[in-house]
Amino acid sequence: MDTFNIDRSKNLFERANNFIPGGVNSPVRAFKSVGGDPIFMKSANGAYMYDQDDNAYVDLINSWGPMILGHNHPFVVEAVEKVIRNSFSFGTPTEIEVEMAKLVVEAVPSVEKVRMVNSGTEATMSAIRLARGYTGKDKVIKFAGCYHGHGDSFLIAAGSGAVTFGVPNSPGVTEGTAKDTLLATFNDLDQVKELVNSNKSEIAAIILEPITGNMGVIIPDEGFLKGLREICDDHGILLIFDEVMTGFRLSYNSAQSLLGVIPDLSCLGKIIGGGMPVGAYGGKREIMEYVSPAGPVYQAGTLSGNPLAMNAGFATLSYLRDHPEVYEKADQATAKMADGMKQQLTEKGITHQIASIGSMFTLFFNPNPVRDFEGAKSCDMERFGKFFRSMLRKGVYLPPSQYEAMFVSAAMGSEEIEKVLTASSESLNEL
Ligand SMILES: *Cc1c(COP(=O)(O)O)cnc(C)c1O
Repeated sequence: MDTFNIDRSKNLFERANNFIPGGVNSPVRAFKSVGGDPIFMKSANGAYMYDQDDNAYVDLINSWGPMILGHNHPFVVEAVEKVIRNSFSFGTPTEIEVEMAKLVVEAVPSVEKVRMVNSGTEATMSAIRLARGYTGKDKVIKFAGCYHGHGDSFLIAAGSGAVTFGVPNSPGVTEGTAKDTLLATFNDLDQVKELVNSNKSEIAAIILEPITGNMGVIIPDEGFLKGLREICDDHGILLIFDEVMTGFRLSYNSAQSLLGVIPDLSCLGKIIGGGMPVGAYGGKREIMEYVSPAGPVYQAGTLSGNPLAMNAGFATLSYLRDHPEVYEKADQATAKMADGMKQQLTEKGITHQIASIGSMFTLFFNPNPVRDFEGAKSCDMERFGKFFRSMLRKGVYLPPSQYEAMFVSAAMGSEEIEKVLTASSESLNEL
């Protein structure tokens, strides 16, 4: 008998559609690529989310990354509770901003100075403005399938045929903006060299997710990032790592320390807010000194460095610093689920790829290894949608898109892992 009841969510979605475009405040929440009605959550604790109909879900998105400690973590909650009556915002500097900046600088190898903003989108937008201002050049290279938020310069698709410049990927992005973004293929170093050679002295920055999450997990080929570092050094181009997803997730010192390649600028978000709206960009002192009011590149924010957000972020980061076992636990839970699913898929004869690193993993329904966006696009999306919907009914909340990574929290215990693997075994049988 089917007991999965989401009537309240359905009703809320109908109401939401009257007042909110598409019924949601961020597109992927609408379940368009997996089918079915989005679930409206009410609360969450540890490894579980609870919806408006009181269904419980093992959470494998964790707010798309931020909740690495699990929901409602007492250390973070108490940190916010302690300051909540001091006012939500002053519009002046506060002590916690200094402590927060120091923590980030000490943790992330490339960051000598850091500026707080309110989202990952703001971080990447500001970082490329700074790169342009600092180098005096206009163009940036981005990689197809890497997501850097919704800034105009990043909503760009590859131009056709011989055209090397980008074209708008969304109405509202002007061709003028698009022509300054060059599109490259992830893992294709030769193509980057060609782009750089055919746009001599015009490229301010190369930006990428050093390990991708936004076309599913893709780990760069040996030498790819080092090659980019060399190209940048040879041509006076700034290398920007967008670590909004991977920062403080793949290690306390972020993906760059794992990979041994240090960018000029880094973008952060998600975990550094501990679930509150925070982003940050930082890098070499000399470059960051170009940001106003120290330097000429303008960037500002009424609520930037917001005291509640900073306290949530500081609590999360300092907890991670002082409790390295958090990473061990989240990573081990991830490996158990990834290995378990791999075994199930193999036994059932379902073609697949499992890409996994640290506490992120993606199950691609694809017979071939996924190395770039073309590979990610060639997955069996229908199959993923079916798998997603079945997992949801069985109480496991996966990212509602084949193009995303699962984010695992340290709140996952053996019971939750078991639940996920039982659900996946049953769901794979239904494909
Ligand atoms: C989530 C994400 C962003 C955008 O961050 P928002 O806070 O959603 O604006 C940018 N880059 C990467 C790599 C991300 O994963």
